[in-house]
Amino acid sequence: MQSLAAVLLFAAALQQQPLTIAVDARDARRGLFHTTVTMPAHAGAMRFVYPKWIPGEHLPSGPIEEMLGLRVTAGGQTLAWRRDPVDMFAFDIDVPKGATSVDVSFDYVSPPAGYGSGYGESPNATQHLLDLPWNHVVVYPAGLRTDAIEVQASVRLPQGWNFETALPVAKKNGDAIDFTAVSLTTLIDSPLIAGEHFRAISFTDDVKMGIVADTDAALALPPERIAQLTKLVAQTEALFGAHHYRTYRWLVSLSDLVGSQGLEHHESSDNRFAEHGFTDPELQKLTIGTLTHEFTHSWNGKYRRPAGLATPDYQQPMLGELLWVYEGMTRYLGDFVLVSRSGVRAPELVREHVAFVAANLDRNRTGRNWRPLADTAAGAGSIGGAPFAWTAYRRAFDYYDESLLVWLDVDTAMRQKSGGRKSMDDFARAFFGPPSSAPMVKPYTFDDVVAALNGVVANDWAAFLRDRVYRVTPHPPLGALEAAGWKLVYDDQPNDYMKPRDYSSHRVDVTFSIGILFHDDGKIDDLTPGTPAAEAGLMPGMTVTSINGRKWSADAVREELAAKKPLEVIAGYGEHVGTYRIDYRGGLQYPHLERVEGKADLLSEIMKAK
Ligand SMILES: [Zn+2]
Repeated sequence: MQSLAAVLLFAAALQQQPLTIAVDARDARRGLFHTTVTMPAHAGAMRFVYPKWIPGEHLPSGPIEEMLGLRVTAGGQTLAWRRDPVDMFAFDIDVPKGATSVDVSFDYVSPPAGYGSGYGESPNATQHLLDLPWNHVVVYPAGLRTDAIEVQASVRLPQGWNFETALPVAKKNGDAIDFTAVSLTTLIDSPLIAGEHFRAISFTDDVKMGIVADTDAALALPPERIAQLTKLVAQTEALFGAHHYRTYRWLVSLSDLVGSQGLEHHESSDNRFAEHGFTDPELQKLTIGTLTHEFTHSWNGKYRRPAGLATPDYQQPMLGELLWVYEGMTRYLGDFVLVSRSGVRAPELVREHVAFVAANLDRNRTGRNWRPLADTAAGAGSIGGAPFAWTAYRRAFDYYDESLLVWLDVDTAMRQKSGGRKSMDDFARAFFGPPSSAPMVKPYTFDDVVAALNGVVANDWAAFLRDRVYRVTPHPPLGALEAAGWKLVYDDQPNDYMKPRDYSSHRVDVTFSIGILFHDDGKIDDLTPGTPAAEAGLMPGMTVTSINGRKWSADAVREELAAKKPLEVIAGYGEHVGTYRIDYRGGLQYPHLERVEGKADLLSEIMKAK
């Protein structure tokens, strides 16, 4: 440990001399990122730390297991380091007399494909591209606010690779790039992508996209999608009435190795999709939606942030209870309102998405009988590392999807109570809008959200939200759909949103008929308790090899279900195989929305471009 006096001394030294971070990514193709962090120092005990709680991930997910080859030197002399026996992310050293700085060098090693899907679990580099979230390659003095630590970063890239980042460039010399000094907060908020196959697109003077891909062919985002994203920027600005970035960049990596995910930042987002995520029309339906979601986060999540997630450094625990606002209202405003208004998704596809969300939360979440929605947020850490099996019973990160219905419920209630004069558009402008600014964080609490809602339309919003979010509720707020003029129905026609979802995740979803979410090799990825498949004695983890005498395939499952006969399946678990009878004759079932005759169509009204 180090004393408060030592922390203050480091703070004073940092005023004179910023931290420097030199990343050598020339070995990225081999999965190695070499880094050297130079910190001002004084003789005596010193502690430095590796970022642990990562913004946007909301979890202690800093990839400490990939930090290898740690070496500390001062004035050419190697110093012994000791890891804190309790906090694996903290390191103590004794700085010798006369030393004014220490160099901490280590390698961040990119994990292999297939190890995991989160940031720091999937590869950061392929033979053709790299993703560099700076938190992977940084250590910093303990005890200081990261806003107060000035850093000067530089990177060496593989020869001839192009790059994109929101970080301002000070100097570029071939493949060596020096960035302007920024706070450590801004550095970690500004990842870099680089690659051999590169494309830049400008949507407006301020909003751009950089794409790196494993092949040139993958860069071909079609012109009509570019037009939709241009409209998205205009519709987002119209919704909020201001923005809180200087410039904004979608950073996109297209590779079958890096995993599919998106991570938000103030002035950029780190979007990773399958190699054909921009060129396969089915995958586009999902990837373009992710771009909308991450862009919305620049307002909701980065600028306005739950107080529990607005921590002073990366070591203090983040409290995720209000993620149903941070992620949940982004699901509503980004993945429903803006995705519709921009034309990024056609109205029919948006309604199919809403139908799937409502049905999935209603039918495939028996966990809602014990776990309130708020606990999926407060307990996100207990869900993040869980296996997929038993998701229906456990619940997942439901604060995303279910909040789409919660905020639709709020929106329709506002419109109804105000005679159509007020809506969530007014809340969005008041809470996230003017004046425009450079990146800054304005934290909020539950009471702040309630007060802002009351500023639009007076109501007991605290009770309204507590009923839907903090109580155990056997059903999601399906009344929101009816209030918007639509209702949830089921028939044998496939749901158009489930198609790309199943296709990209290699799954066959027959949960709404027999309760099984299959992997496309016949493995039962999850099974909903209380459904015919569960009653038959099947369980997640088993693999179905035959159905009614036919070898397992997605077509065989669908055709045998469509025949409305009971199913006899052979399923194995390890070395043991058994026969199971699923007593179900209801045919294939998929969710859709249907108009409620005679009721105003508020849903379409909300989806209309402004
Ligand atoms: Zn999000």
